[in-house]
Amino acid sequence: MKSIRLKRGRERSVMRRHPWIFSGAIDRVEGDPQSGDTVEVFDHAGAWLARGAYSPISSIRTRIWTWNADEGIDAGFFKQRIDAAVDARGALRDDTSVNAYREIHAESDGLPGLILDRYVDLRVVQFLTAGVEAWRDAIVSILASSGECAGIYERSDNEAREKEGLPQRALAAFGEEPTGETTILENGLQFLVDVRQGQKTGFYLDQRENRRIVRSLVRGKDVLDCFCYTGGFTVSALAGEAKHVVSVDSSENALALARRNVSLNGFSADDCDWIQGDVFAELRAFRDRGASFDVIILDPPRFAPTAATKQRAARAYKDINLLAFKLLRQHGKLITFSCSGGVSPALFEKIVAGAAVDAAISAQIVKWLSQPQDHPVSLHFPEGRYLKGLVCRLA
Ligand code: SAH
Repeated sequence: MKSIRLKRGRERSVMRRHPWIFSGAIDRVEGDPQSGDTVEVFDHAGAWLARGAYSPISSIRTRIWTWNADEGIDAGFFKQRIDAAVDARGALRDDTSVNAYREIHAESDGLPGLILDRYVDLRVVQFLTAGVEAWRDAIVSILASSGECAGIYERSDNEAREKEGLPQRALAAFGEEPTGETTILENGLQFLVDVRQGQKTGFYLDQRENRRIVRSLVRGKDVLDCFCYTGGFTVSALAGEAKHVVSVDSSENALALARRNVSLNGFSADDCDWIQGDVFAELRAFRDRGASFDVIILDPPRFAPTAATKQRAARAYKDINLLAFKLLRQHGKLITFSCSGGVSPALFEKIVAGAAVDAAISAQIVKWLSQPQDHPVSLHFPEGRYLKGLVCRLA
Protein backbone atom coordinates (compact mmCIF):
# COMPACT_ATOMS: atom_id res chain seq x y z
CA MET A 1 0.00 0.00 0.00
CA LYS A 2 1.21 3.47 -0.85
CA SER A 3 0.75 5.78 2.07
CA ILE A 4 2.00 8.74 4.04
CA ARG A 5 2.00 9.05 7.78
CA LEU A 6 1.76 12.51 9.30
CA LYS A 7 3.70 13.91 12.23
CA ARG A 8 1.86 14.27 15.52
CA GLY A 9 -0.46 17.28 15.43
CA ARG A 10 -0.23 17.69 11.68
CA GLU A 11 -3.53 15.86 11.15
CA ARG A 12 -5.41 18.95 12.27
CA SER A 13 -5.53 20.72 8.91
CA VAL A 14 -6.49 17.47 7.17
CA MET A 15 -9.35 17.03 9.64
CA ARG A 16 -10.53 20.56 8.87
CA ARG A 17 -10.71 19.33 5.26
CA HIS A 18 -7.96 21.54 3.94
CA PRO A 19 -6.76 19.71 0.80
CA TRP A 20 -3.01 20.43 1.04
CA ILE A 21 -0.41 18.42 2.94
CA PHE A 22 3.00 20.07 3.00
CA SER A 23 6.23 18.05 2.97
CA GLY A 24 7.05 19.22 6.51
CA ALA A 25 3.90 17.57 7.88
CA ILE A 26 4.93 14.12 6.69
CA ASP A 27 6.74 11.72 9.01
CA ARG A 28 7.03 8.68 6.70
CA VAL A 29 6.30 7.73 3.13
CA GLU A 30 5.63 4.05 2.44
CA GLY A 31 5.24 1.94 -0.69
CA ASP A 32 7.40 4.20 -2.89
CA PRO A 33 4.61 6.31 -4.46
CA GLN A 34 5.44 7.92 -7.81
CA SER A 35 4.27 11.28 -9.15
CA GLY A 36 0.48 11.39 -9.13
CA ASP A 37 -0.03 8.05 -7.39
CA THR A 38 -2.90 7.75 -4.96
CA VAL A 39 -1.75 7.51 -1.35
CA GLU A 40 -3.61 6.75 1.86
CA VAL A 41 -3.10 9.40 4.53
CA PHE A 42 -2.71 8.30 8.16
CA ASP A 43 -2.21 10.27 11.35
CA HIS A 44 0.81 9.65 13.59
CA ALA A 45 -1.02 6.83 15.42
CA GLY A 46 -2.04 5.05 12.22
CA ALA A 47 -5.68 6.19 11.96
CA TRP A 48 -6.87 6.65 8.36
CA LEU A 49 -7.64 10.28 7.51
CA ALA A 50 -7.92 10.74 3.75
CA ARG A 51 -6.79 9.68 0.28
CA GLY A 52 -4.82 11.95 -1.99
CA ALA A 53 -2.39 12.38 -4.86
CA TYR A 54 1.33 12.23 -4.16
CA SER A 55 3.64 14.81 -5.70
CA PRO A 56 7.28 13.97 -4.93
CA ILE A 57 8.78 17.34 -5.93
CA SER A 58 6.22 19.93 -4.83
CA SER A 59 6.33 21.34 -1.32
CA ILE A 60 2.60 20.57 -1.37
CA ARG A 61 3.50 16.89 -1.22
CA THR A 62 -0.06 15.56 -1.28
CA ARG A 63 -3.39 16.98 -2.42
CA ILE A 64 -6.42 15.28 -0.99
CA TRP A 65 -9.04 13.72 -3.25
CA THR A 66 -11.40 12.42 -0.58
CA TRP A 67 -12.03 12.19 3.16
CA ASN A 68 -14.45 9.30 2.60
CA ALA A 69 -12.80 5.89 3.07
CA ASP A 70 -15.39 4.26 0.80
CA GLU A 71 -14.62 6.53 -2.14
CA GLY A 72 -12.04 4.96 -4.45
CA ILE A 73 -10.00 7.06 -6.87
CA ASP A 74 -10.85 5.85 -10.36
CA ALA A 75 -12.45 7.16 -13.53
CA GLY A 76 -15.87 6.97 -11.85
CA PHE A 77 -14.66 9.29 -9.09
CA PHE A 78 -13.57 11.89 -11.64
CA LYS A 79 -16.78 11.59 -13.61
CA GLN A 80 -18.81 12.24 -10.48
CA ARG A 81 -16.76 15.28 -9.41
CA ILE A 82 -16.70 16.71 -12.94
CA ASP A 83 -20.45 16.29 -13.39
CA ALA A 84 -21.12 17.91 -10.02
CA ALA A 85 -18.99 20.94 -10.87
CA VAL A 86 -20.47 21.36 -14.34
CA ASP A 87 -24.03 21.01 -12.99
CA ALA A 88 -23.34 23.71 -10.40
CA ARG A 89 -22.89 26.21 -13.27
CA GLY A 90 -26.49 25.71 -14.41
CA ALA A 91 -27.41 29.36 -13.84
CA LEU A 92 -24.63 30.55 -16.13
CA ARG A 93 -25.44 27.94 -18.75
CA ASP A 94 -29.01 29.30 -18.83
CA ASP A 95 -27.90 32.94 -18.95
CA THR A 96 -28.15 34.08 -22.56
CA SER A 97 -25.89 37.10 -21.96
CA VAL A 98 -22.92 34.85 -21.15
CA ASN A 99 -21.41 31.88 -22.97
CA ALA A 100 -17.96 31.70 -21.41
CA TYR A 101 -17.36 30.70 -17.81
CA ARG A 102 -15.32 28.45 -15.56
CA GLU A 103 -16.73 24.95 -15.22
CA ILE A 104 -14.17 23.51 -12.81
CA HIS A 105 -12.26 25.58 -10.26
CA ALA A 106 -9.68 23.11 -8.98
CA GLU A 107 -9.49 22.64 -5.20
CA SER A 108 -12.72 24.54 -4.63
CA ASP A 109 -14.58 21.99 -6.77
CA GLY A 110 -12.90 19.01 -5.11
CA LEU A 111 -10.51 18.53 -8.03
CA PRO A 112 -7.11 19.92 -6.97
CA GLY A 113 -5.09 21.14 -9.94
CA LEU A 114 -7.87 20.90 -12.53
CA ILE A 115 -9.12 24.01 -14.34
CA LEU A 116 -11.81 23.84 -17.00
CA ASP A 117 -13.06 26.93 -18.81
CA ARG A 118 -15.82 26.99 -21.40
CA TYR A 119 -15.72 29.33 -24.40
CA VAL A 120 -19.00 28.68 -26.22
CA ASP A 121 -18.55 25.08 -27.44
CA LEU A 122 -14.82 24.97 -26.88
CA ARG A 123 -13.44 23.75 -23.56
CA VAL A 124 -9.99 24.71 -22.35
CA VAL A 125 -8.44 22.47 -19.73
CA GLN A 126 -5.39 22.85 -17.49
CA PHE A 127 -3.75 20.02 -15.57
CA LEU A 128 -1.67 21.88 -13.01
CA THR A 129 -0.63 19.19 -10.53
CA ALA A 130 0.85 15.68 -10.48
CA GLY A 131 -2.47 14.23 -9.34
CA VAL A 132 -4.58 15.41 -12.26
CA GLU A 133 -1.71 14.82 -14.67
CA ALA A 134 -1.81 11.12 -13.78
CA TRP A 135 -5.53 11.04 -14.66
CA ARG A 136 -5.22 13.24 -17.73
CA ASP A 137 -6.40 10.73 -20.34
CA ALA A 138 -9.33 9.58 -18.21
CA ILE A 139 -10.40 13.18 -17.58
CA VAL A 140 -10.12 14.16 -21.25
CA SER A 141 -12.23 11.16 -22.23
CA ILE A 142 -14.89 12.02 -19.61
CA LEU A 143 -15.04 15.60 -20.89
CA ALA A 144 -15.12 14.51 -24.54
CA SER A 145 -17.78 11.85 -24.08
CA SER A 146 -20.14 14.19 -22.21
CA GLY A 147 -21.12 15.53 -25.64
CA GLU A 148 -21.06 19.07 -24.29
CA CYS A 149 -18.33 20.47 -26.48
CA ALA A 150 -16.95 20.40 -29.99
CA GLY A 151 -13.35 20.47 -28.89
CA ILE A 152 -11.04 20.48 -25.90
CA TYR A 153 -7.85 22.50 -26.00
CA GLU A 154 -5.22 21.80 -23.37
CA ARG A 155 -3.24 24.68 -21.87
CA SER A 156 -0.97 22.77 -19.52
CA ASP A 157 1.70 25.37 -20.21
CA ASN A 158 1.34 27.08 -16.86
CA GLU A 159 4.33 27.85 -14.63
CA ALA A 160 2.56 26.06 -11.74
CA ARG A 161 3.50 22.78 -13.41
CA GLU A 162 7.20 23.45 -12.92
CA LYS A 163 6.80 23.13 -9.17
CA GLU A 164 5.27 19.70 -9.78
CA GLY A 165 8.09 18.61 -12.07
CA LEU A 166 5.73 18.44 -15.05
CA PRO A 167 6.57 19.49 -18.63
CA GLN A 168 4.75 22.28 -20.49
CA ARG A 169 2.11 21.15 -22.95
CA ALA A 170 -0.40 22.96 -25.18
CA LEU A 171 -2.39 21.07 -27.80
CA ALA A 172 -5.81 19.99 -28.98
CA ALA A 173 -6.73 17.16 -26.58
CA PHE A 174 -9.98 16.39 -28.40
CA GLY A 175 -11.48 17.62 -31.65
CA GLU A 176 -9.73 19.94 -34.02
CA GLU A 177 -7.11 22.50 -33.13
CA PRO A 178 -8.97 25.82 -32.92
CA THR A 179 -8.04 28.23 -35.68
CA GLY A 180 -8.07 31.94 -34.94
CA GLU A 181 -10.07 33.40 -32.08
CA THR A 182 -13.30 32.29 -30.48
CA THR A 183 -15.97 34.97 -30.09
CA ILE A 184 -17.59 34.88 -26.67
CA LEU A 185 -20.38 36.81 -25.02
CA GLU A 186 -19.94 38.38 -21.60
CA ASN A 187 -22.61 40.61 -20.05
CA GLY A 188 -24.03 40.86 -23.57
CA LEU A 189 -20.72 42.17 -24.96
CA GLN A 190 -18.58 40.31 -27.48
CA PHE A 191 -14.93 39.44 -27.01
CA LEU A 192 -12.41 37.64 -29.16
CA VAL A 193 -10.48 35.05 -27.21
CA ASP A 194 -7.28 33.38 -28.34
CA VAL A 195 -7.26 30.16 -26.35
CA ARG A 196 -3.95 29.00 -27.81
CA GLN A 197 -1.79 32.07 -27.20
CA GLY A 198 -3.78 34.13 -24.71
CA GLN A 199 -2.97 34.49 -21.01
CA LYS A 200 -4.40 31.91 -18.60
CA THR A 201 -6.87 29.99 -20.78
CA GLY A 202 -7.40 33.05 -22.99
CA PHE A 203 -9.65 35.41 -21.04
CA TYR A 204 -9.95 36.70 -17.47
CA LEU A 205 -13.34 35.12 -16.85
CA ASP A 206 -13.07 35.95 -13.16
CA GLN A 207 -13.69 39.67 -13.78
CA ARG A 208 -17.14 39.23 -15.37
CA GLU A 209 -19.15 40.75 -12.52
CA ASN A 210 -16.63 43.47 -11.82
CA ARG A 211 -16.75 44.53 -15.47
CA ARG A 212 -20.50 44.94 -15.09
CA ILE A 213 -19.94 47.08 -12.01
CA VAL A 214 -17.42 49.25 -13.86
CA ARG A 215 -19.93 49.65 -16.65
CA SER A 216 -22.42 51.09 -14.16
CA LEU A 217 -19.96 53.66 -12.77
CA VAL A 218 -18.53 55.44 -15.78
CA ARG A 219 -21.18 57.37 -17.69
CA GLY A 220 -19.66 60.62 -18.93
CA LYS A 221 -16.35 59.88 -17.21
CA ASP A 222 -12.72 59.94 -18.25
CA VAL A 223 -11.49 56.42 -17.60
CA LEU A 224 -7.99 54.98 -17.32
CA ASP A 225 -7.82 51.17 -17.69
CA CYS A 226 -4.44 49.96 -16.45
CA PHE A 227 -3.34 46.41 -17.32
CA CYS A 228 -6.16 46.28 -19.87
CA TYR A 229 -5.14 42.95 -21.51
CA THR A 230 -7.70 42.33 -24.29
CA GLY A 231 -9.95 45.16 -23.17
CA GLY A 232 -12.42 43.53 -20.79
CA PHE A 233 -12.81 46.70 -18.71
CA THR A 234 -12.21 49.04 -21.65
CA VAL A 235 -15.12 47.63 -23.67
CA SER A 236 -17.31 47.53 -20.55
CA ALA A 237 -16.53 51.19 -19.85
CA LEU A 238 -17.42 52.15 -23.43
CA ALA A 239 -20.67 50.19 -23.10
CA GLY A 240 -21.31 52.20 -19.94
CA GLU A 241 -20.97 55.41 -21.98
CA ALA A 242 -17.64 56.57 -20.65
CA LYS A 243 -16.63 59.87 -22.22
CA HIS A 244 -13.12 58.69 -23.05
CA VAL A 245 -11.00 55.66 -22.24
CA VAL A 246 -7.22 55.36 -22.06
CA SER A 247 -5.94 51.78 -21.92
CA VAL A 248 -2.46 50.65 -20.92
CA ASP A 249 -0.78 47.26 -21.22
CA SER A 250 2.74 46.05 -21.83
CA SER A 251 1.64 43.39 -24.30
CA GLU A 252 1.40 44.38 -27.93
CA ASN A 253 -0.71 41.32 -28.79
CA ALA A 254 -3.13 42.04 -25.96
CA LEU A 255 -3.55 45.64 -27.11
CA ALA A 256 -4.12 44.56 -30.71
CA LEU A 257 -6.90 42.24 -29.61
CA ALA A 258 -8.31 44.90 -27.27
CA ARG A 259 -8.66 47.28 -30.23
CA ARG A 260 -10.46 44.62 -32.22
CA ASN A 261 -12.75 43.92 -29.25
CA VAL A 262 -13.67 47.59 -29.05
CA SER A 263 -14.57 47.63 -32.76
CA LEU A 264 -16.44 44.34 -32.52
CA ASN A 265 -18.86 45.98 -30.10
CA GLY A 266 -19.50 48.92 -32.37
CA PHE A 267 -17.18 51.47 -30.75
CA SER A 268 -14.33 53.28 -32.40
CA ALA A 269 -10.89 52.05 -31.34
CA ASP A 270 -9.38 55.22 -32.77
CA ASP A 271 -11.39 57.34 -30.35
CA CYS A 272 -9.66 55.59 -27.45
CA ASP A 273 -6.05 56.10 -26.39
CA TRP A 274 -3.86 53.01 -26.39
CA ILE A 275 -0.55 52.97 -24.61
CA GLN A 276 1.86 50.09 -24.85
CA GLY A 277 4.06 50.44 -21.82
CA ASP A 278 4.84 49.70 -18.22
CA VAL A 279 2.00 50.87 -15.97
CA PHE A 280 4.45 51.91 -13.22
CA ALA A 281 6.23 54.24 -15.64
CA GLU A 282 3.10 55.41 -17.45
CA LEU A 283 1.37 56.44 -14.20
CA ARG A 284 4.43 58.55 -13.36
CA ALA A 285 4.38 60.03 -16.83
CA PHE A 286 0.70 61.00 -16.39
CA ARG A 287 1.56 62.58 -13.05
CA ASP A 288 4.48 64.51 -14.52
CA ARG A 289 2.35 65.98 -17.26
CA GLY A 290 -0.52 66.79 -14.87
CA ALA A 291 -3.10 64.38 -16.35
CA SER A 292 -6.19 63.45 -14.33
CA PHE A 293 -9.08 60.96 -14.55
CA ASP A 294 -12.51 60.34 -13.05
CA VAL A 295 -12.17 56.57 -12.88
CA ILE A 296 -8.99 54.48 -12.75
CA ILE A 297 -8.92 50.69 -12.98
CA LEU A 298 -5.88 48.80 -11.71
CA ASP A 299 -5.96 45.09 -12.52
CA PRO A 300 -2.32 44.02 -12.36
CA PRO A 301 -0.95 40.51 -12.83
CA ARG A 302 -0.18 38.37 -9.80
CA PHE A 303 2.61 40.22 -8.01
CA ALA A 304 2.64 37.64 -5.20
CA PRO A 305 1.96 34.10 -6.38
CA THR A 306 2.84 32.82 -2.91
CA ALA A 307 2.97 34.10 0.64
CA ALA A 308 6.78 34.20 0.39
CA THR A 309 6.73 36.99 -2.21
CA LYS A 310 4.31 39.10 -0.17
CA GLN A 311 6.70 41.89 0.84
CA ARG A 312 7.85 42.75 -2.63
CA ALA A 313 4.29 42.51 -3.93
CA ALA A 314 3.00 44.82 -1.21
CA ARG A 315 5.42 47.52 -2.35
CA ALA A 316 4.35 47.12 -5.98
CA TYR A 317 0.65 47.33 -5.09
CA LYS A 318 1.25 50.37 -2.92
CA ASP A 319 3.21 52.08 -5.65
CA ILE A 320 0.55 51.86 -8.35
CA ASN A 321 -2.32 52.61 -5.98
CA LEU A 322 -0.53 55.67 -4.62
CA LEU A 323 0.12 56.99 -8.12
CA ALA A 324 -3.47 56.29 -9.18
CA PHE A 325 -4.89 58.13 -6.17
CA LYS A 326 -2.83 61.16 -7.17
CA LEU A 327 -4.26 61.11 -10.68
CA LEU A 328 -7.88 61.05 -9.56
CA ARG A 329 -10.09 64.11 -9.72
CA GLN A 330 -12.32 65.11 -6.82
CA HIS A 331 -14.94 62.38 -6.14
CA GLY A 332 -13.11 60.18 -8.62
CA LYS A 333 -13.12 56.41 -8.21
CA LEU A 334 -10.26 53.95 -8.00
CA ILE A 335 -11.23 50.38 -8.85
CA THR A 336 -8.28 48.35 -7.69
CA PHE A 337 -7.61 44.62 -7.69
CA SER A 338 -5.21 42.00 -6.47
CA CYS A 339 -5.31 38.43 -7.76
CA SER A 340 -2.33 37.34 -5.67
CA GLY A 341 -3.05 34.27 -3.57
CA GLY A 342 -0.36 35.46 -1.15
CA VAL A 343 -2.14 38.75 -0.39
CA SER A 344 -5.22 38.40 1.83
CA PRO A 345 -8.20 40.73 1.47
CA ALA A 346 -7.28 42.34 4.80
CA LEU A 347 -3.69 42.93 3.72
CA PHE A 348 -4.81 44.34 0.39
CA GLU A 349 -7.08 46.81 2.14
CA LYS A 350 -4.20 47.83 4.39
CA ILE A 351 -1.91 48.38 1.40
CA VAL A 352 -4.50 50.54 -0.38
CA ALA A 353 -5.10 52.51 2.84
CA GLY A 354 -1.35 53.08 3.12
CA ALA A 355 -1.25 54.27 -0.47
CA ALA A 356 -4.02 56.79 0.25
CA VAL A 357 -2.13 58.15 3.26
CA ASP A 358 1.08 58.54 1.27
CA ALA A 359 -0.83 60.16 -1.58
CA ALA A 360 -2.19 62.64 1.00
CA ILE A 361 -5.80 62.11 -0.04
CA SER A 362 -8.97 61.06 1.81
CA ALA A 363 -11.07 58.29 0.35
CA GLN A 364 -13.71 55.79 1.35
CA ILE A 365 -14.39 52.22 0.27
CA VAL A 366 -17.79 52.11 -1.40
CA LYS A 367 -17.69 48.50 -2.56
CA TRP A 368 -15.78 45.27 -1.98
CA LEU A 369 -15.24 43.16 -5.07
CA SER A 370 -14.46 39.49 -5.45
CA GLN A 371 -14.71 36.60 -7.88
CA PRO A 372 -17.96 35.34 -9.46
CA GLN A 373 -19.98 32.22 -8.73
CA ASP A 374 -18.17 30.07 -11.29
CA HIS A 375 -14.96 30.66 -9.30
CA PRO A 376 -16.30 29.41 -5.96
CA VAL A 377 -14.24 29.19 -2.78
CA SER A 378 -14.38 26.00 -0.75
CA LEU A 379 -15.00 26.89 2.90
CA HIS A 380 -12.12 24.58 3.73
CA PHE A 381 -9.74 26.25 1.30
CA PRO A 382 -9.52 30.00 1.91
CA GLU A 383 -6.64 30.18 -0.60
CA GLY A 384 -9.30 29.72 -3.28
CA ARG A 385 -10.34 33.32 -2.70
CA TYR A 386 -7.59 34.90 -4.74
CA LEU A 387 -9.33 37.84 -6.41
CA LYS A 388 -10.17 40.86 -4.31
CA GLY A 389 -10.95 44.39 -5.28
CA LEU A 390 -12.07 47.70 -3.85
CA VAL A 391 -14.01 50.60 -5.25
CA CYS A 392 -12.59 53.64 -3.48
CA ARG A 393 -14.13 57.08 -3.80
CA LEU A 394 -12.04 60.14 -3.33
CA ALA A 395 -13.41 62.73 -0.92
N1 SAH B 1 -7.83 43.70 -16.83
C1 SAH B 1 -7.62 42.59 -17.74
C2 SAH B 1 -6.73 41.52 -17.17
C3 SAH B 1 -5.39 41.98 -16.72
S1 SAH B 1 -4.19 40.74 -16.66
C4 SAH B 1 -8.96 42.03 -18.17
O1 SAH B 1 -10.00 42.49 -17.68
O2 SAH B 1 -8.97 41.14 -19.00
C5 SAH B 1 -2.73 41.61 -16.43
C6 SAH B 1 -2.21 42.33 -17.65
O3 SAH B 1 -1.12 43.13 -17.25
C7 SAH B 1 -1.68 41.47 -18.79
O4 SAH B 1 -2.34 41.81 -19.96
C8 SAH B 1 -0.19 41.82 -18.91
O5 SAH B 1 0.23 41.90 -20.26
C9 SAH B 1 -0.16 43.17 -18.29
N2 SAH B 1 1.08 43.58 -17.62
C10 SAH B 1 1.87 42.88 -16.79
N3 SAH B 1 2.82 43.67 -16.25
C11 SAH B 1 2.63 44.90 -16.77
C12 SAH B 1 3.26 46.17 -16.58
N4 SAH B 1 4.28 46.30 -15.73
N5 SAH B 1 2.78 47.23 -17.26
C13 SAH B 1 1.73 47.10 -18.10
N6 SAH B 1 1.08 45.95 -18.28
C14 SAH B 1 1.52 44.85 -17.63
